Amino acid sequence: MEFQNQFQEADQMPKYECLLFDLDDTLYPLSSGLSDQCTKNIEEFMVQKLGVEEKRVTEVNQVLYKNYGTSIAGLKAIGYNFDNEDYHSFVHGRLPYENLRPDPVLRTLLLSLPYRKLIFSNGNNVHVAKTLSKLGLDDCFEGVISFETLNPTKDDEGCSTSVFDRSCLFDAGISELPATPIVCKPFANAYEQAFKKTNINPQRTIFFDDSLRNIQTGKNMGLHTVLVGSSNRTKGVDYAIESIHNIREALPELWEIDNKNTDTARTLSGKLAMEKSVTAEA
Ligand SMILES: [Mg+2]
Repeated sequence: MEFQNQFQEADQMPKYECLLFDLDDTLYPLSSGLSDQCTKNIEEFMVQKLGVEEKRVTEVNQVLYKNYGTSIAGLKAIGYNFDNEDYHSFVHGRLPYENLRPDPVLRTLLLSLPYRKLIFSNGNNVHVAKTLSKLGLDDCFEGVISFETLNPTKDDEGCSTSVFDRSCLFDAGISELPATPIVCKPFANAYEQAFKKTNINPQRTIFFDDSLRNIQTGKNMGLHTVLVGSSNRTKGVDYAIESIHNIREALPELWEIDNKNTDTARTLSGKLAMEKSVTAEA
């Protein structure tokens, strides 16, 4: 088979076959203000919809975010019951998307990279689509791994069934905190599911994220890692770049495969994508 013959020519195989990108604060800068507003909206949701005490809401949110990766995962874990879509529309519905502008520089960079490209975000589908559209990047990615990808059930009643005394939240050790029904970065099960659903081989994938803990889990899961928004190369960080625009300077090797290998990479990328989408749908 032509595909198998190509696959066996190991010396012609490009080192990477896939680029995996976080969205928020990775494909656009933190300075856009979306992240700050998102935190404010989450706190407002907690006060208005869940009755969390206003003077403690920031502290509660921080503890949940720290221990559960996302606020929604923490809220569900400690027994709050609400509809995931209501949460997402409240939290994302009033973000200053108008602060995002088309980014033709990033678009050109992405389109010049002959690899599978996927988004891996804790955000929901509507948010991801709106953000990519505002950035002018909606046709740059083969697929999106979103909140719904990892939490496909409509069973939004899926809050933790364990009875947890929320007044103990600040004193509870990590082992005493109830598990969350939500699957999200930075936890290993989110990566395992993402790899499985999209047929990603982590050893041949580069992962870009602005969150150090997301990056460190990614590294533990076998991904090559690029921390975005920082020049601090710490544990688990293979590359650190201040801006996603610096990919070419930090990773020139991505463009340095010769023409023959580029053709092979494109062919393989296309064939793998086809094979994988068939497998994923099976
Ligand atoms: Mg991010």
